[in-house]
Amino acid sequence: MKIERIDVYQKTYTVVEEVYAWSRGRSVSSLDGTVVKLTTDEGLVGYGECVPLGAAYMPSYAEGVRTGLRELGPQLIGLDPLHLKAMNTFMDSVMAGHGYVKTPIDVACWDLLGKATGQPISTLLGARYVEDFPIYRALSQGTPEEMVESAARYRAQGIRHFQMKVGGTADEDIPRIKAVLDSVQDGEVVVADANTGWNLHQATRVVNALRGERVYIEQPCPTLAECLSVRSRTSLPMVLDEVITGVPAFLEAYSQSAMDVINIKVSRVGGLTKAAQLRDLAQDLGVAVDLEDAASGDIMASALAHLVASTRPEAFFTASIWNYRLRESISPDAPRPENGRVPVPKGPGLGITIDQEALGPPLFSIT
Ligand SMILES: [Mg+2]
Repeated sequence: MKIERIDVYQKTYTVVEEVYAWSRGRSVSSLDGTVVKLTTDEGLVGYGECVPLGAAYMPSYAEGVRTGLRELGPQLIGLDPLHLKAMNTFMDSVMAGHGYVKTPIDVACWDLLGKATGQPISTLLGARYVEDFPIYRALSQGTPEEMVESAARYRAQGIRHFQMKVGGTADEDIPRIKAVLDSVQDGEVVVADANTGWNLHQATRVVNALRGERVYIEQPCPTLAECLSVRSRTSLPMVLDEVITGVPAFLEAYSQSAMDVINIKVSRVGGLTKAAQLRDLAQDLGVAVDLEDAASGDIMASALAHLVASTRPEAFFTASIWNYRLRESISPDAPRPENGRVPVPKGPGLGITIDQEALGPPLFSIT
């Protein structure tokens, strides 16, 4: 099988909650996504996408995905999309870095492999431990009262795992976290995610104020060295996210016992192939995983569902998808949460139908 054609689509999404805010005053109200459709010489089509969370969250941005695809795409024509590892090795050999550009191609190749073999991606990733799974909900940064109110609203929707967007000053964040902790019920999980927003003295004040509380701390500071310093001052469990850019970064953090959980973002590590490799390593080493992407439309939501389904249950910490938080959709049957749980698609490949009309005409095509 050979890739014969690559169509690239642009899709604008608006955030249902209107503004989603996190540390250092960063926020988004709309998202600019890119969808890739691969067509093969046998007529099979596969879909992938990358939806950056604006340009300020990770080293990726919407126009960068498309510019990268204009550079990378022509070199992929004629390659066999079913040989995922060879495809990734090739992409890395002709383009250094820019994993977010390669992500939609990699996901589309998995979709093709599934359709060619008649199997869902989860089965091809080696397991289908669950048919549905719980997600967490991020509490957009606000006043303590607003964040408690958000948690209550999401609790009513079946959510039991809350990730608070903190990363302001210690004076702002300590009351936020304590207010939400005061409101949680038995069996619920609270993570305080600073998204790199604290410097050392702020982080130290926050963890000291939370000693003994049932809260996880996520990515307190920008660098691994700073996060290690915070970890040395607290016994609260630690999640690392922004610094986990791939296997080498994970192993460096692991060798220093830097965290209990890692947050794997598919487009940050460069696609589903690499996310699954990192997930496999983490679960073998006793580190639990949070599986998600910076943002996700219908395609990435499905890819994530397959990644979760193939994750050993004891290694699964939590997951997140974004498509249900966006007003626009390109798939009528993409996975969406019901009572806080997301079903894993059963059909071959991603297992979802793409509405070509909702996608519109391609922005550009490579043949
Ligand atoms: Mg995070």
